[in-house]
Amino acid sequence: MDKIYSSLSWGATEVAHTHKIASDLALNIKPGVVIYLLGDLGAGKTTFVRGFLQALGYKGKVKSPTYTLVEPYDMPDYTVNHFDLYRIEDFRELAQIGLDEYFTEQSICLVEWPDKGQPVLPGADLTCYIDKIDAQDARIIRIDALSARGETVLSRL
Ligand code: ADP
Ligand code: MG
Repeated sequence: MDKIYSSLSWGATEVAHTHKIASDLALNIKPGVVIYLLGDLGAGKTTFVRGFLQALGYKGKVKSPTYTLVEPYDMPDYTVNHFDLYRIEDFRELAQIGLDEYFTEQSICLVEWPDKGQPVLPGADLTCYIDKIDAQDARIIRIDALSARGETVLSRL
């Protein structure tokens, strides 16, 4: 078990709440941070990334890069790399795309289905769990800091 430095959780009863939490995170993030997104299919991981990117000024479509594994978004100060590893069958597929190019001090990485990327995927500074608590729109969102760097970000929220 990784050490948890600190933790925050929220109830999000609609998409707008999830976007607000993602937006607060985006506005307090620092380049170099790695965020794992955890939760079932349809929990809201991609929705969270959409809120994150929109807060940084991105106006285009945000689609999960299920087949390409990663979609980079160039922002003025850094690149946001959105990974979706759901379709990976062998972690070597991920090693092949050249992870060193994506996990840099000038980028922020958000990773859906990080378990599929082990053992080559770099570790997370923050893990964001999204739980569907009923059949409707309510979610519980919890963010844990797993590094000092992650803790610094979380302390600003
Ligand atoms: P995932 O990437 O986890 O598979 P998506 O973000 O693609 O999930 O889909 C989540 C779906 O749930 C979207 O259709 C979204 O509109 C819907 N949804 C409803 N309520 C919420 C909420 N509170 N937070 C996030 N998504 C929600
Ligand atoms: Mg998704």
